[in-house]
Amino acid sequence: MPDTRRPTPTRTLRTVRDLVEAGLVSQAAQPALEDVAREYATAIPPAFAELIEHAHDPIGLQVIPDPAELHITAEERSDPIGDDALSPVPGIVHRYADRALLKPLLVCPLYCRFCFRREHVGPDGGVLDEAALERALDWLRAHPAIGEVILSGGDPMMLSPRRMAHIIRALEAMPHVHTIRIHTRVPVADPERVTQEMVAALDTTCSLWVVVHANHARELTPAARASIRRMQVRAIPVIAQSVLLRGVNDTPEALEALLRALVAARVKPYYLHQLDPAPGTSRFRVPIAEGQRLLAALRGRVTGLAWPTYVLDIPGGHGKVPIGPAYLEAAGGTITQVRDPQGRPHRVEEGGAQTLPFRAGEGRSPSLQDIPTSSDRDPNETAGEPDPRRTGHRA
Ligand code: SF4
Repeated sequence: MPDTRRPTPTRTLRTVRDLVEAGLVSQAAQPALEDVAREYATAIPPAFAELIEHAHDPIGLQVIPDPAELHITAEERSDPIGDDALSPVPGIVHRYADRALLKPLLVCPLYCRFCFRREHVGPDGGVLDEAALERALDWLRAHPAIGEVILSGGDPMMLSPRRMAHIIRALEAMPHVHTIRIHTRVPVADPERVTQEMVAALDTTCSLWVVVHANHARELTPAARASIRRMQVRAIPVIAQSVLLRGVNDTPEALEALLRALVAARVKPYYLHQLDPAPGTSRFRVPIAEGQRLLAALRGRVTGLAWPTYVLDIPGGHGKVPIGPAYLEAAGGTITQVRDPQGRPHRVEEGGAQTLPFRAGEGRSPSLQDIPTSSDRDPNETAGEPDPRRTGHRA
């Protein structure tokens, strides 16, 4: 629960002094944090500040600066996913043949301490001016292979509804653009910004999706859920992306609570991102093998609706790939070996649609050959009770 002894801030906290006065960091920490503040922007809107119990809780960690941000490790880079090299004109990133990113501004409602664009975003990062925005839109008009435009930034929901409407109308008028995606943290960070005017601005004949960035169940407050609902009632599908973060969502319990809270808000978890190696973010890093174990712990425990794709953006701009966990262990001819959510191996006869569990082995890991198929089976062997989970409809 939030610390009720601390007054709720009435305005966005932007300076170290603000953080001290709000009781989120100590006076003694101020000089070291001023060094961090010279490098990276800070903003914590009241709705988000209210959720913080202390600087190192899962909410505080995400937004309160820390001296560790000045420690840059060897693998960290200022542009971890290679946006700059893939930018043909300011405001556009073109990584995949049929999609492009449009970044109309670099301002965010809050500044995540792990942000992959932390070297670029901030209140001084500004907004594309009219001429620059038109050049970016012209680039999209001139590229008919682009079917999907992803509004990113910064946070596009920091635009005024008027400017958002202008962009949506311009994209809608491009015959080749059929899908618009909006990546935003606003619904959880500053939910009151999702006004009826903003939702009306999103009304389009294109297939428009809002992708909310949320990392902890506590971010799904009643106000956040209401802001999401304002979009859903206008038939705007809302899905979610999250970043796997040490100290925030790196336990099965925290991850499960987040995924369940999203589904309860009618939001499909879309991506769980492996943290990008942005400068000064190593305190948040969870190794991929640990991320796979975390997700494996949830397999079979949470509904498939809640299951995100765990992805890595290959550093250097080589694209995003799913990174597991994998359940397919071997495939040869018509025989495939898989593991079930409990980790037990099974040999699947494709075409025959038979799935038989492996009989506990004699002290070594089974190989594909070790796992019996139906033809290996003693015909007199009783099949035993049917597993109720395997009858009826696929859940
Ligand atoms: S809202 Fe997005 S772009 Fe802005 S700081 Fe957070 S992760 Fe970065």
